[in-house]
Amino acid sequence: MGILTMKFGGSTVGTTTALPQVVSIILQEFERWEHLIIVVSALDGVTDALIEASHLAQLGNRRGYRRIVATLRTRHLALVEQLSLKEDERNALKADIDRLLFDMLDVCQTLSEPTSVNLPVAEYVDAIIGVGERLSARIIATLLRHNNIKGVALDAFDLIITDDVFGNANADIDRTRERIRTNLMPLLERNLVPVITGFIGSTLSGKPTTLGRGGSDFTASLLAVCTGSSEVWIWADVDGMMSADPRELDDAHVIDELSYAEVAELTYFGARILHTRMVAPLKANNIPLF
Ligand code: ASP
Ligand code: MG
Repeated sequence: MGILTMKFGGSTVGTTTALPQVVSIILQEFERWEHLIIVVSALDGVTDALIEASHLAQLGNRRGYRRIVATLRTRHLALVEQLSLKEDERNALKADIDRLLFDMLDVCQTLSEPTSVNLPVAEYVDAIIGVGERLSARIIATLLRHNNIKGVALDAFDLIITDDVFGNANADIDRTRERIRTNLMPLLERNLVPVITGFIGSTLSGKPTTLGRGGSDFTASLLAVCTGSSEVWIWADVDGMMSADPRELDDAHVIDELSYAEVAELTYFGARILHTRMVAPLKANNIPLF
C-alpha cells in the first residue's frame, strides 16, 4: 500500500484523552500501509510560550523565561505521569524532557547576557522555539514503543534542509530529498516508525531553523514528497476543511473535496487550518491530502 505520512496537530497530542486516540490511529494504519511516517506538532500553546520565553530572554528577564520553562516542564511531566507506560519507559522519557528543557534554558541564558547583542539572535531564537516539537515527538515515540511498534523520535535537523531565513525558513527540496534518502529511508526499511518533529529544520551548515507558524504541515508535505508517500493525512480537532472557522460560525460545515488551487488560495488568504507553503509541493507531485 505504499507510504502514508500522517501529521498530528497540537490539539491532538496534548491531552491524556487524545493521545490514546493518536496511538490507536497509528496502530491501525500500521497494519494497512507498508510504511508510516508520523509528524507531530508541539502541544497546544507550547510554541507561543516558547516564543514568549525567547522574548523575555532577549530582554534580560531571567525570572520571566525561567517561570515559563518551569510551567512547560510541569505540564509535560504531568502529562507523562498520566500515560500508561512502564516505569522505565516513563523515567527515560522524563529524563529526555528534562535534558531538552535544560539545554534550552542554557540558550535562553546566553540570549539574556548583555553581550548577546553581538550574537546571531535569530538563530538562538529558532533553537528555543523548536523545542516543543522535540518534546512531543519523544512522548509519541515512547507511547508507540509501549504498544510494540518500533517508534523512534527524530529531530528534523538532519532531514529538512532550509535557507537561513530564521523564523520563516523555506526548504531546499533537493538537499532535503538527499538527507531523507540517507537518514530516513533506511529506518523505514528496518520497519521503524519515525516520529518526526514538525516545524523545524536546519541550514546546510547545521544551524536550527523554523518554518513559520503552523509549519508542521509543511514538514509533512516535504516528507511526503521526498519519501514518495501515497497520501498525506492531517489530524486536527476539526473534521476537515470547513466553510468557515467553526469557532466563529455555528453553521460552518465540512467541505468534502477541494482542488489544490482552492486550498492554496484559502491558506494564502489567511485560513489558518493549513500552512500556506504546504500545498504546492503536494500539487506538483500529485499527492492527495486528507
Ligand atoms: N508548533 C508550531 C506552531 O505552533 C508549528 C505547528 O504547530 O505546526 O506554529
Ligand atoms: Mg496548524
